[in-house]
Amino acid sequence: MILSKKVSGIAASDGIGIAKAYLLVDPDLSFKKQTISDDAAEIKRLHASFDNSIEELKKIKQNAKASLGEDEVAVFDAHIAMLSDPDMIKQIEDEIKTDKVNAEQALVDVTTNFAETLAAMTDNKYMQERAADVKDIAKRALSHLLGKQLPNLASINSPVIVVAHEITPSDTSQMNKKYIKGMITDMGGRTSHSAIMSRTLEIPAVVGSEKATTEIANGDQLILDGLNGVAIVNPSQDEVSEYEQKATEFATKKAEWAKLVDAPSISKDGKQFEIAANIGTPADVDDALKAGADAVGLFRTEFLYMDSDSLPTEDQQFESYKKVAESMNGKPVVIRTMDIGGDKPLPYLPLPEEMNPFLGYRAIRISLDRQNIFRTQLRALIRASKFGQLRIMFPMIATLDEFRKAKQVFMEEKQKLQQDAPGIGDDIKLGIMIEIPAAAIFADQFAKEVDFFSIGTNDLIQYSFAADRGNDAVSYLYQPLNPALLRLIKHVIDSAHAEGKIAAMCGEMAGDQRALPLLLGMGLDEYSMSSSSILRSRSQMRGLTTGECSTIVDEVLAKCQTADEVESLVNKRLTGVAQ
Ligand code: PEP
Ligand code: MG
Repeated sequence: MILSKKVSGIAASDGIGIAKAYLLVDPDLSFKKQTISDDAAEIKRLHASFDNSIEELKKIKQNAKASLGEDEVAVFDAHIAMLSDPDMIKQIEDEIKTDKVNAEQALVDVTTNFAETLAAMTDNKYMQERAADVKDIAKRALSHLLGKQLPNLASINSPVIVVAHEITPSDTSQMNKKYIKGMITDMGGRTSHSAIMSRTLEIPAVVGSEKATTEIANGDQLILDGLNGVAIVNPSQDEVSEYEQKATEFATKKAEWAKLVDAPSISKDGKQFEIAANIGTPADVDDALKAGADAVGLFRTEFLYMDSDSLPTEDQQFESYKKVAESMNGKPVVIRTMDIGGDKPLPYLPLPEEMNPFLGYRAIRISLDRQNIFRTQLRALIRASKFGQLRIMFPMIATLDEFRKAKQVFMEEKQKLQQDAPGIGDDIKLGIMIEIPAAAIFADQFAKEVDFFSIGTNDLIQYSFAADRGNDAVSYLYQPLNPALLRLIKHVIDSAHAEGKIAAMCGEMAGDQRALPLLLGMGLDEYSMSSSSILRSRSQMRGLTTGECSTIVDEVLAKCQTADEVESLVNKRLTGVAQ
């Protein structure tokens, strides 16, 4: 009998998945250089490995096309073309014949050479980027020579739970939601981008387990509990039944929440708030609307830049912003200018190597420095504002000067556009993310000049506690309920209100059930979160009374010293209220 074992991590996306493990880890492709005598046989092996690679790529492409669409699969055609390149094949054959080495060695030597030549073409970006493709096809052919199977997300066509060291945004863009029943990673925290993407895709997820890829083997049966942050490997029949029951209960709750899709986001005492959606692409608006979002509270535009091979043009951006503004049908849409840098690099915009990218050249710092990129984005936004209620928000603002400069650039572009379109952009509200402690502390001054705040707790917590949000070794410092942070947040909300401005939150804390009573008690106006959390939060909000929540906030701030104390006091008071 196989005994089940547990792998725990951080609960990153709600839900329960039961399926076989799919290990997203490259197999060991090491080999020894060998002297061969039969070069014809070796060349035959080489050709077989190329033919098999082409066949495999065709199949992957076929599967991927059905689930992902034409654009996402173009890369496979490029790889197939490379595997048919007579020049490269001849060079490998020549090395086998002349040096009498095995096909593996000749393949690696020749393709490494090709890749290095391409990578050296610094004046031709396109060719330079092809170096990665050559390495990719070499890896595939090598896997066939060695009889090993490479993992490929796009080829998945039956239910699986993905097990990976780390999942990148481009991995998630290859996932077909129909088959991915869950994911578990070694790396990452609750606010790492893979965790956020899993919530957007509504895939149950556990991150930061440290040992998923070493403890779980390909094909192991898995239960993934994204509610409690645990995976059960090779579960017993009893465990499967228990979790099937839990999955049904969760589905029942979801069905209850679904009834609130058209209900207002109000507290029990009838105060109106806004529950908004965080989106990454225009396509995410569908989920936001299905979840009954009152607004889009954060459109992370950097994904438009990351999903492209070059800087998106003004017109391309305009189409995306217009689509979101129109689809939201007059409801507010907060679009954040690009937040590139940190953990979101751009392959075609080489940024300097940095010791501390999270503290480095990123977001508004790049925008103010490379103003051509910023101005293009602002023009697209101003033009799109005709099609809805659009608000612009600047990320990573640390000082008032930065906000003033960004506003100045915005005003200049608006004036230019107004020469042909009088009045365009006049209704746009300008706000900032509060995610750097200096801005939070200085919120009373910022509030005099901005139209709204949106508190980015993912970064605000990272910077307040000096704890990298993607590093699981310090994830215990992700403490949304820590009284120090609560003080800071209350100061931001009070500062906004003192100047009659809106206080919103778009960090993950806004959708955190434990934090909602406190945020409601502090009077936060807008709660922006992954679409998958909206209905649950609306349901929770409708059961809470603002007066009682504000009394709890006062008590928490007066008495509690740790996040755990806050959590238990809130629980105690709320159960008391309910009785
Ligand atoms: C945040 O920092 O809280 C935020 C919403 O921005 P991002 O997660 O994109 O850094
Ligand atoms: Mg941020």
